[in-house]
Amino acid sequence: MDIPVSPDSLIQASFIALPADARVQVAIDAMAEGRSSCVLVIEAEQLIGILTERDVVRLTTQSALKVTSTLAETMTTGVVAISLAETCDAFSLNQQFSEHQIRHLPVVDAQGKVVGIVTPHSLRRSLKPEYLLRHMRVAEVLQSDVIHGFPSHSVLELSAQMTQNRVSCVVIIDAQTLLPVGIVTERDIVKCHRLGLDVETVSAQQMMSAPLSTVAPLDSLWSVHEKMMALRVRRLVVVHPSGELAGIVTQTQMLKVLDPVETYRVMAQMQGLIDHQTRELHRLNQELQLNNQVLRHMTTVDELTQVANRRRLNDFLLEKWDYLAVQQRFLSVLMCDVDYFKAYNDTYGHLAGDQCLSQIAEALCSVTWKSSDLVARYGGEEFVVVLPHADGAAAETVARKIQAQVASLNLEHCGSLIANKVTLSLGVVSVVPDRHRTPDMILHTADQLLYQAKQQGRNHYILKVLASSDSASLEVAAPPTDLT
Ligand code: GH3
Ligand code: MG
Ligand code: MG
Repeated sequence: MDIPVSPDSLIQASFIALPADARVQVAIDAMAEGRSSCVLVIEAEQLIGILTERDVVRLTTQSALKVTSTLAETMTTGVVAISLAETCDAFSLNQQFSEHQIRHLPVVDAQGKVVGIVTPHSLRRSLKPEYLLRHMRVAEVLQSDVIHGFPSHSVLELSAQMTQNRVSCVVIIDAQTLLPVGIVTERDIVKCHRLGLDVETVSAQQMMSAPLSTVAPLDSLWSVHEKMMALRVRRLVVVHPSGELAGIVTQTQMLKVLDPVETYRVMAQMQGLIDHQTRELHRLNQELQLNNQVLRHMTTVDELTQVANRRRLNDFLLEKWDYLAVQQRFLSVLMCDVDYFKAYNDTYGHLAGDQCLSQIAEALCSVTWKSSDLVARYGGEEFVVVLPHADGAAAETVARKIQAQVASLNLEHCGSLIANKVTLSLGVVSVVPDRHRTPDMILHTADQLLYQAKQQGRNHYILKVLASSDSASLEVAAPPTDLT
């Protein structure tokens, strides 16, 4: 996996360089003033040694820090340095830090001239925010066995503790409550020297940073990173919500996430989570689609006859109306009503009545085009057929077909006063939609025509062609269909 680093923020271009004969006190002052954690010792443009805050702490405990000491006497030689090319790989940089247990990697060019320093701090800063830090919590990297001291401890005692335990800070806890109250870092010890204080008498109470800036175990490493940047610190004390010390989190630990094994573990964990969520999302999506289909069916289809319901009819009619108004093409509406259906129910029962309605719906569907026309139950024993693009002649043909098809069902109806089979009456309107009319007006006209057809003997259709709202309409009354 590629871990993105941005080279600009990775290589710290400003650093303190001093010659070997410079006195340590000068180096300490420069470090304290420049808030730098090391001094590079450079002679003839070549790196020959390094003095870090850690060295100052070590020298403190050995009482080797004399005012007269020079860097040549105290510096670490054989400095591990890297080339510019090596700065591209965050993994190997991190490996160098942990392998050599160091926190400064001077970067040199082809001529061996130092161009900058890479530190865990600059490495962390250069990592892209999108990286794992957002997904990992403090609890996953925190160091729980913290070296702690009490406010009464002297700086010398604290320095000894740091050196013995190879740590860069001591958390100061209250002797009574045992709650953390402050922190003393290598930097504070450097400052102590800078101020010329006596390390044996100055206490932790005087030198420690307090009040403490803390983070919680469940905070994300990203929030820790941001806090470290804002406070310009390299470590933060972790406390439980109760205020008890949980540990510390340092830049080095945060870089643990760069450890390939650790990274792999987190990636695998995240991948597992993503896979699970993807599967779950897929399942929910399918369920949703199915539910939507059922819902759409329920809201648009009549339960008994399985043709469109009135809501669907209204939507369909409006949609076609607008379209055909633009096209200036005909649309026909056929309102169909079963003749003497009350008598049918009375004679054969309600259940048989239901079956009869279903068969009529099927008959209506069989004579219309599924792809373009719509058959809808308008209510009770009334159906509406919408025929887009059909003019009067075409609508009349369909009306006749409907009557013939219903007749061919041969449904006995001895309660009918006009035939011994089930018959329909129809009111048919053909119209070129325009802005002077509405679909409701057409349905109303069809209903009126149906009423007339009933009046004129049933088993009968009446057609009205409304060519345009200005011109005269044409009405056709058809004789009852021959049922013999
Ligand atoms: P007309 O020829 O004038 O249309 O007479 P009709 O008896 O068909 O008309 P009316 O409006 O008097 O009666 C309609 C009947 O339709 C009454 C009602 O019981 C029946 N009906 C309405 N919806 C259903 C239904 O879902 N199932 C059944 N079985 N009957 C229904
Ligand atoms: Mg009716
Ligand atoms: Mg009826």
